[in-house]
Amino acid sequence: MTVETREFQTEIKEILNLMIHSLYSSREIFLRELISNSSDAIDKLKFEESTNAELKTGDAAKMIRLVPNKDNKTLQIIDNGVGMSRDEVVKYIGTIAYSGSKNFVQKIQEMKEQPELIGQFGVGFYSAFMVAEEVSLHTQRAGESMGTVWTSNGDGSYALEEAVREAGHGTTITLKLKDAPEGEENPQDFADQWTLKSIVKKYSDFIEYPIQMEMSSEEPELDDEGKPVEGKFKTVVKDETLNSQKALWVRAPKEVKDEEYKEFYKHVTSDWSDPADWLHFRAEGTQEFSSLLYTPSTVPFDYNQREMKYGPSLYVKRVFIMNNCEELVPQYLRFVKGVIDSDDLPLNVSRELIQKDKHIQMIRKAVVSKMLRHFATLMSKEREKYEGIWEKFGATLKEGVASDYTNKDKLTPLLLFKSTASDAWTSLKEYVGRMQEGQKEIFYMTGESIANLQTSPHLERLKEKNYEVLYLTDPVDEWMINSLTEFEEKKLVSVTKDDLELDNEEEKKKAEEDLKSAGEKLAPVTESIKAALESRIKDVKLSRRLVDSPVCLVSGAQDPSAHMERLMEAMGQAVPKSKRTLEINPEHPVFEKMLSFEDAQRKDWAEILYNQALINEGSPIEDPQKFSKQISALMMNT
Ligand code: ADP
Repeated sequence: MTVETREFQTEIKEILNLMIHSLYSSREIFLRELISNSSDAIDKLKFEESTNAELKTGDAAKMIRLVPNKDNKTLQIIDNGVGMSRDEVVKYIGTIAYSGSKNFVQKIQEMKEQPELIGQFGVGFYSAFMVAEEVSLHTQRAGESMGTVWTSNGDGSYALEEAVREAGHGTTITLKLKDAPEGEENPQDFADQWTLKSIVKKYSDFIEYPIQMEMSSEEPELDDEGKPVEGKFKTVVKDETLNSQKALWVRAPKEVKDEEYKEFYKHVTSDWSDPADWLHFRAEGTQEFSSLLYTPSTVPFDYNQREMKYGPSLYVKRVFIMNNCEELVPQYLRFVKGVIDSDDLPLNVSRELIQKDKHIQMIRKAVVSKMLRHFATLMSKEREKYEGIWEKFGATLKEGVASDYTNKDKLTPLLLFKSTASDAWTSLKEYVGRMQEGQKEIFYMTGESIANLQTSPHLERLKEKNYEVLYLTDPVDEWMINSLTEFEEKKLVSVTKDDLELDNEEEKKKAEEDLKSAGEKLAPVTESIKAALESRIKDVKLSRRLVDSPVCLVSGAQDPSAHMERLMEAMGQAVPKSKRTLEINPEHPVFEKMLSFEDAQRKDWAEILYNQALINEGSPIEDPQKFSKQISALMMNT
């Protein structure tokens, strides 16, 4: 048998050199790379078997085996996959397809400068040299009767030799393990069965084929009756499958039971409650990926904290790459958990590269559109379930209306609101369906809570006219509503703005006349009020907005609402105070009464009325002590 020695390509020499001398962290990923290669090789064999009836490969179970040997300091990774012919070994192991390209030369340069980034580049098989001083690969192509042994210590050349592989087709990789690099605090022992088991669990748990290893354990010795003998143990060696193989996401959705989905959810999240909902699909076309995404039924404890990590786990062909891949979903879908498994990404994609990766961007786009469509279906077909999700994560989805311009039209129909109509949730479409004759706009009011809004004077006339008003009580609403100016050509209008129009032409005419005559009559009172509150309000206006209350404050169409101002103050932001208009209800008897007062008393009452308006809308009053004294005085006078 002849041994042939060949030189590595220059680029590979450089990679190996870095691998051997510069890389100290994440060395454990070599196992992920080798197992993934084995799994691919079994995939290929399966494919060939299904397309080539001539190929006789026997019916041994397809699997990957790890054989550690502590005494010899070796680790073998064995598969019964398709194997390689001699030509293939030369082609695949020892040359790099994209060598010579400018891009690659530049990558090598980058690797030299930042060896810790090495994992990002396509290094696959060569990563074995991070942990081994010598690597040998014995492989035999399915359908052939002679195998090839490839051996190298990574120093520039490799040897090739013919040898029949006893087990037939497949590949055995034997690593002669190095001692841990000097200075490494916790050198991992890659011949240790527990170390290997935990690395497999971490990176390769969902590999489709069993990854087996002999595990030894101490078990009590048994006496003749089968009872354990105290203090006596023996070493038992058993084959163990290290991976769960349960890559649910690559199975066809109709073959997966609900119970399995739920169990898997608990496996990938640390959430012990059942998920509210899941979406399982496979994308074909420009990006091929499998995706299993869950919506939790509970809000995580750290939700909305800035440091909260989010995003599904990323896999590449069933190999774990990373948790919380934030680039896969926009922030407004940050409650979504689960797995995305790409067919197109390289295994060694890293967090740094992912931010710019165009595959990732395309996957994210597809995921968003699929998810939003799914929510729309839920909303129409499983309303109760959708409302449950909305109650937990609706406020998060609302962020999308303001932040994701391209998907705004898909997000808007998903919005649900509480309103003056009933206790039920309503969509904008449903609201429009209930609009009164002559109603042209969609009315809303923002505030801290529904209870707070329900009693607002601003709603009095609208209630009388049977106009429905949406309650917007999430902090995000003020922000969202700036982007949501229209729905189905109907304007969304805040009931606290000064230009609110509630009347039809005829009513308007009559109202104008009424207001004009009331205005003339009450002029002395409004003048006093204006003078008393000059520094705090923009104007005093008679209006028909109110029914029972005497006064309310309204903002200009372009000004922030009172609620917005309170929110910004609560966040510690300086708020340029915009003066508002005090609207008065000419039909309220208080003004009639005030006509008979002296100017000084009118001013006193103006102050009280102004403070009432503030209290009613939930804003703080400026001088509570003074207000309280004024009220006491008033009580003494009646
Ligand atoms: P990659 O897996 O990214 O293509 P590698 O350097 O890991 O890069 O492997 C190069 C090629 O060698 C693989 O594409 C495959 O064709 C072949 N190969 C590696 N390991 C095996 C194996 N266990 N069985 C069969 N072929 C293998």
